[in-house]
Amino acid sequence: MVQTDRILMGPGPSNPYPEVFEALTRPVLGHLDPEFLALLDETNERLRAAFRTSNPLTFPVSGTGSAGMEAAFVNFVEPGDPVVVGVNGVFGERMCDVAARAGAKVIRVEAPWGRPVDPQALIDAHPSPKIIAVVHAETSTGVRNDLACLHTGKEGTLLLVDCVTSLGGIPVETDAWCVDIAYSGTQKCLGVPPGLAPLTVSPRALEQIKARPGSWYLDLNMIARYVMGEGGRAYHHTAPISMIYALHAGLGVLLDEGLESCWERHRACGEALQAGLEDLGFELFAEKGHRLPQLTSVYVPTERLPAGMDEAAARRALLERYGIEVGGGLGPVAGKVWRIGCMGHTARPRNVMLLLAALEELFSS
Ligand code: PLP
Repeated sequence: MVQTDRILMGPGPSNPYPEVFEALTRPVLGHLDPEFLALLDETNERLRAAFRTSNPLTFPVSGTGSAGMEAAFVNFVEPGDPVVVGVNGVFGERMCDVAARAGAKVIRVEAPWGRPVDPQALIDAHPSPKIIAVVHAETSTGVRNDLACLHTGKEGTLLLVDCVTSLGGIPVETDAWCVDIAYSGTQKCLGVPPGLAPLTVSPRALEQIKARPGSWYLDLNMIARYVMGEGGRAYHHTAPISMIYALHAGLGVLLDEGLESCWERHRACGEALQAGLEDLGFELFAEKGHRLPQLTSVYVPTERLPAGMDEAAARRALLERYGIEVGGGLGPVAGKVWRIGCMGHTARPRNVMLLLAALEELFSS
């Protein structure tokens, strides 16, 4: 993962997120143990708070963020369904791929990398799509796509959003924005190891899948019998107990800090980092007004690279000399853009200062 802190969590002098690390070492209960089920219920309640929703079906899918994406599409798409997808980076492309594999007739609404997708173009792309899908925080470019204005009011059209890199880092207002299906990942702004994909589904969307499972493992109707427990909790697949302990603890830390405070911490760090980079003469990649604070994309000043170093060697030097991991560019901007994550517990002023000082030193060597 792209991070300003190389050590994401664990024992040791800085010991970020001790609560999460401690949760991972807790004795493992059975997945139908009443004590574990109570903890799962509390985890889902915490997820509702993070997603700002009252959706009863809110739970962590077993699997990383991509499993959340897959669950979001395979349960709702029938072969031939028109599905509009906003594409301005890697993860919008991945949505197209997943939707097409589920049989959707994909209608792409593209924007250049580094720029947001036009919400009106998404709405106008088809008169009655089954789904409008968009990535809220495009991790491959550092761009925020607007969701607040995407509610079409079209009966039968579901709004599906990828919140993998946005949840916990910037406002996500699932209910207020009329989002029907949203999924996230644990390893970004929630600061929990990778392995779960928090998912929330509106009652309106759930109605649409009652009789039509598109997958066995990710069948939301079957999983709901375990997660929501109406008429007893039925085994579907073995819940990843330790990961759910960790998510429960990570969400506890986040909600103790306060969701708004957490957004504010990410905003302040992201803005300080972006201003500091510009002061050092770097040029930011993502369009102004749509820059994510938790993921900063910046052009590599190739002409200023230290003698004998290409951009990959410069990133390696940051990792080896200062313990800072910076991500390379993807797709059309590979080798041209760096992606700097400042998210979860790593969104701290000290990490911003360390990175800026390291860049100053490296680029003057
Ligand atoms: N969507 C976005 C916006 C992401 O950034 C990522 C991963 O970085 C994914 C989906 C896929 O998540 P994962 O790699 O956890 O499967």
